[in-house]
Amino acid sequence: MVRPSLRSRTKKRKLVRTPGGRLVLHIIDKKHDVPKCAMCGRPLHGFPRVTAREERRGLKPPTRPYGGYLCHECLKQGLKRAVRSLAGQS
Ligand SMILES: [Zn+2]
Repeated sequence: MVRPSLRSRTKKRKLVRTPGGRLVLHIIDKKHDVPKCAMCGRPLHGFPRVTAREERRGLKPPTRPYGGYLCHECLKQGLKRAVRSLAGQS
C-alpha cells in the first residue's frame, strides 16, 4: 500500500517491473498545461509540459518583449497597431 497522500485516484498509476521481478506501483506526477497566449489563447512555443517539481527549477521564456505572455503573432499585430496609432497622432 502506498502513502496515504498518494492514494488519490486523480494521479496516474503505472505498474513497473523491478529487476527482482516484482511488480511495483509507481505514482506518476501530473504535468501542468502549456502556458497560453493572453490574447488569442494559442499555446506558447518553447514551453514543454512539465510537472510542478520540474517547473520550480524554472523555464526560460523567449527573450523578446512580452515573451512568455503573448505569442509572436499577437505581439507583431500589437506593435503594428501601436506604431500606426502613434503615426496618426502627429
Ligand atoms: Zn496570440
